Amino acid sequence: MNKGIQIAQGKTKVLYEQPGQPDVLVVAQTDAISAGDGAKRDVIPGKGRLAAQTTARVFRLLNLCGLPSHYLSGGEDDDNNEMLVRRCNMIPLEVVVRGVAAGSLVRRNPGLQKGALLVPRMVEFFLKDDANHDPLIDPESIVAKGIASPAEIGAMSEMARITFDILSHAWRKKDTLLVDLKIEFGRLTGGENQGMLVIADVIDNDSWRIWPQAREDLMLDKQLYRNLDAASPEELERIKGAYENVADLVGSFPQMRPGMVAVICDGPEYVDSSNRLVQSLQMFGLPTVRHVASSIKTPGYVLQLVQQLDATFARLLFVSVGEPNSALRDMLDNATTNPVFHYSGTPEQVAMRCAKTLAMEDTVLFGRTLLMQTNSRSAIMQADAGVNAAVPPNSTLA
Ligand code: 5GP
Repeated sequence: MNKGIQIAQGKTKVLYEQPGQPDVLVVAQTDAISAGDGAKRDVIPGKGRLAAQTTARVFRLLNLCGLPSHYLSGGEDDDNNEMLVRRCNMIPLEVVVRGVAAGSLVRRNPGLQKGALLVPRMVEFFLKDDANHDPLIDPESIVAKGIASPAEIGAMSEMARITFDILSHAWRKKDTLLVDLKIEFGRLTGGENQGMLVIADVIDNDSWRIWPQAREDLMLDKQLYRNLDAASPEELERIKGAYENVADLVGSFPQMRPGMVAVICDGPEYVDSSNRLVQSLQMFGLPTVRHVASSIKTPGYVLQLVQQLDATFARLLFVSVGEPNSALRDMLDNATTNPVFHYSGTPEQVAMRCAKTLAMEDTVLFGRTLLMQTNSRSAIMQADAGVNAAVPPNSTLA
């Protein structure tokens, strides 16, 4: 990759400018592995490439779900340990989400059993300060030190939780428990959305704890390295094997298994309503096929369509659009083994039902559904804050 001057060096990565693009940086992940705030260090040849692959694949998944991150491109090719990112002012915090008790949480709370499920998930902030071993910091101190505003702390907690839920869904598909996760945030320095909070830094096999089959002894993450006093070449090779395994598994996360929603209108008079439904389905990125086939006037055509669609699409849902008591829904229900919904309520509700059903097998759709729900919740909270806002002094009540 064409690189400009080096602007920063971390324990496991180097940042360069990108000539001619002041708002873009190159992040190169290195072969270093370290623990104990750098007290233990080793080199695993090829780790930088695996880390870049893992990071790029995770960020691509988050971007597909609609979460804002600094990731632009690169990092996924086999011989490439570099990716392009949007330049950020980093917020000096590590944001940790925990779904299961482990690590420093258990050390700080001896009464808490390792492996205990944490409901709701826990979000903790640690100040990035190697000399003081990245101490835990509470939201009041973050604000008092001018590190982030209360609104930013709220946004970071929400985005961190959603990131955890998305990655947890993806890992679950591999029969693996995501125990905890560390992410970092930055504010975009320029370009469109300057100042916007985005997920930044890297998310790789050093950033989480993952337990296949929920068994700690099968762990695949950096804890393998932390647990060693001194790493022999054989042990480093074993750790590299785990990192390779993880990069491969993460490679299959973002692959959308495109579902198809077949919208069947019970006559031409329902085409207008189906237009609104198709628009709502498109908000989730769900593809659709549409047909008009009347259960009363062309029942044979309805059955023929079902057979054709069932034979064509691997992951198919039907939505019948018509009168609540029309025979179309029952016809479809009896003719196909795929799920059938009837269009009732708002188009957004029906689209959400379809998205949730297909999200069971598709982490991108799962993430989009989660974000859609979060956004509609925050619209309600904002409206609530709006109606209770103080009346400006000069305004008159109508
Ligand atoms: P703990 O606080 O239990 O040690 O760590 C919680 C989570 O954050 C774990 O998934 C751990 O891997 C991650 N984590 C904690 N500190 C760091 C760090 O300095 N770098 C990275 N990459 N991950 C960290």
